Amino acid sequence: MTESVITLKSFFDEVRDGRLTGIRCGRCGLLALPPKERCPSCQERQWESVPLAGTGTVTSFTVIRIPPRGRAAEAPYAVAVVKLSEGVSMLGRLVDIPLDTLAAGLPVRFRPLLGENQTSIGFGPG
Ligand SMILES: [Zn+2]
Repeated sequence: MTESVITLKSFFDEVRDGRLTGIRCGRCGLLALPPKERCPSCQERQWESVPLAGTGTVTSFTVIRIPPRGRAAEAPYAVAVVKLSEGVSMLGRLVDIPLDTLAAGLPVRFRPLLGENQTSIGFGPG
């Protein structure tokens, strides 16, 4: 496997279909997410795609009370760093979880957030 098998675009195409896909370095085995051009550990460009279960736990979170322009109706909401079962961490927005129950270690499960123009990473109750 010598070519990059997943791009940022195909990553988000998968997300839209409800699948979370990581990439694993063919040289050092580092698992990364979302896709990058080169391995941050060994600089190799030999990725293979790895389907991820989408389950994980909250490592840390921030409650957004003053949202970016255009998202005022959505505040407050929480954004969290989630450590996936496979060991890699990623940032996502928490949905359907009461803000006052948020805590580090809370189990969550990936779900796609489908916007009008973009798809983003969300996590709901685990
Ligand atoms: Zn590597």
